[in-house]
Amino acid sequence: MKTVKKRSKRRSVKQSKKVKDKAKAKVKVRAKEKRIASRATTAYATEYYRLLRAAYPDAKCALHHHDAYELLVATILSAQCTDVRVNMVTPALFKRWPNATALAHADRGALEEMIKSTGFFRNKAKSLEGMAHAVVEKHGGRVPRTMDELTALPGVGRKTANVVLGNVFGENDGVVVDTHVARLSRLMGLTRETDPVKIEQDLMRLFPREDWTMLSHLLIEHGRKVCIANRPKHDECVLRHLCPSAEV
Ligand code: SF4
Repeated sequence: MKTVKKRSKRRSVKQSKKVKDKAKAKVKVRAKEKRIASRATTAYATEYYRLLRAAYPDAKCALHHHDAYELLVATILSAQCTDVRVNMVTPALFKRWPNATALAHADRGALEEMIKSTGFFRNKAKSLEGMAHAVVEKHGGRVPRTMDELTALPGVGRKTANVVLGNVFGENDGVVVDTHVARLSRLMGLTRETDPVKIEQDLMRLFPREDWTMLSHLLIEHGRKVCIANRPKHDECVLRHLCPSAEV
């Protein structure tokens, strides 16, 4: 009888500990949500930007290019591929097809072979050819410089257009939201969204237009060097005293 009583007492102690732990976890989650929500203000955005700008004074576009055509090609190739890999491929590509007119007449097989190592090479070759044809036929061989004209080109979405507009034409039309920018923006509490277009809208609301291009360079740099996916170096981070995810 005594043993049964002891067992049931142990069970009830265990259960009440479980309930307490659950409640504690809930409080923790709620506190984190509160911290995250409190960071979506221009005051935090300004401070984040200031600290990142100081930490990465040389931040810039990592894709090697000399003009809009080259950056457009490199950005199309960078989908699902590292910038380092793209930079290994583009010198030979630009030498062989130095402009949109040349690329429009490229042999599809040779182009695919050239870009094979960047992945999804058949789709990318199709996009590059389509883009080059449209640039030649609709814009006289020159890469257009408006969001509407750029996103009308085959294989060019808002992100690619933002890269070209911001880095070649000096136009801050939007914020480039890649995986680093999306991930860090959520970790830092600047957005709760997961859709890149909605994340971009949140960032555009929080940061002044003149900072939009640099903002994505800074977040990408920080995401590569410090706030690394799955192993963020909170202790080395210049944002740790502000970031709501610093303790996680
Ligand atoms: S404190 Fe941590 S989670 Fe926040 S930005 Fe820095 S490394 Fe990333």
